[in-house]
Amino acid sequence: MKAPSDFQLQADLRRPGRRVTNQRWLILEVVRGTDSHPTAEWVYQKVRRRLPRISLGTVYRNLKLLAEEGLIQELESRGFGRYDGNTARHDHFTCQRCGRIFDLEVRVDPSLGRRIGARTGFTITHHRIEFYGLCASCVLAAGHAKGGETSKRARHRP
Ligand SMILES: [Zn+2]
Ligand SMILES: [Zn+2]
Repeated sequence: MKAPSDFQLQADLRRPGRRVTNQRWLILEVVRGTDSHPTAEWVYQKVRRRLPRISLGTVYRNLKLLAEEGLIQELESRGFGRYDGNTARHDHFTCQRCGRIFDLEVRVDPSLGRRIGARTGFTITHHRIEFYGLCASCVLAAGHAKGGETSKRARHRP
């Protein structure tokens, strides 16, 4: 799915009106160049450094198109648009304190869909599982803010 779209984009680049396609290439490059799962606004700020006249609306439109073409992923976690340059199947962890989204190296049991299918009779084509909580640096920050309360509590655990 990824290869033909890349090919299509390259074909577009050779056509007249390449200014538009250059914008799209640059946006794609910016999203693929980070693992921070950026917002449209973040991408806009980066792209603006090289294309000062580009508008947020144009960036937003191009992000939508790139996502439709399967060149990037649009994440729906936390109710606002976040984009992912990594189009391989992977799950995410969202920190509820700092809002950072992390890629998970750990794969969710791939037999999950099959097992649910066997129980329900549903044909499951894919799934999306989101993990939420506190990232390592937020756990640390919370511990410091409470003046070591976390470590005191930990001592009571068996
Ligand atoms: Zn965090
Ligand atoms: Zn990701």
